[in-house]
Amino acid sequence: MCPFVGGSRGRGTRAGSAGQNGGMSRALLIVDVQNDFTEGGALGVAGGTEVARGIARLLARHPHRYRLVVASRDWHDPDGDNGGHFATDSPPDFVTSWPVHCVAGTPGAEYHPELPTAAIDVHVRKGQGIPAYSAYEGTADDGRDLSRVFDDAGIRRIDVVGIATDHCVRASALDAVRDGREVRVLSDLVAGVDAAASERALAELRAAGAVIAGSEE
Ligand SMILES: [Zn+2]
Repeated sequence: MCPFVGGSRGRGTRAGSAGQNGGMSRALLIVDVQNDFTEGGALGVAGGTEVARGIARLLARHPHRYRLVVASRDWHDPDGDNGGHFATDSPPDFVTSWPVHCVAGTPGAEYHPELPTAAIDVHVRKGQGIPAYSAYEGTADDGRDLSRVFDDAGIRRIDVVGIATDHCVRASALDAVRDGREVRVLSDLVAGVDAAASERALAELRAAGAVIAGSEE
């Protein structure tokens, strides 16, 4: 696969500096690695903690692979049902309605403690009052949307990791493809709610033009 030849991820020099990568500028998009989506959380996904650890290992082993590291968080309002996203009157169907999760400002909405947050350059929050599966539906702390964030940093290639394969990883990666990026989903650094649905999601992503790869490829 593609050789990763050095990088130019130094803070302050990244913007506009292609370095040895030339047009190979790549970002890591970490989707929703939050306490409520990992083991013990309100919507805990098996394997979520291992995803956080694997991302930490990836960034430790390859500190120069990514020009930009972006992380999204589901960030729902404490009041109401967030546009029907929270099951308040009936049991959740785990398709379009869910147990209460990732309420803004609560421990469940925070990043998993093993995620290396010091490496995150841009924080995106989504789902304030509405269902939002794709990180593209969110905004960075400075108000930019994800497409703008990537354009501003000269990013054409995106590696997507996180939780959950069959929901927010799927939606985010599909939007990244639609946004014209070259997208890889790192299959050893995602965790899904449902195994069959996750396989379908990866097949759908492959059909859409994304590459399903291992994190060491
Ligand atoms: Zn949500």
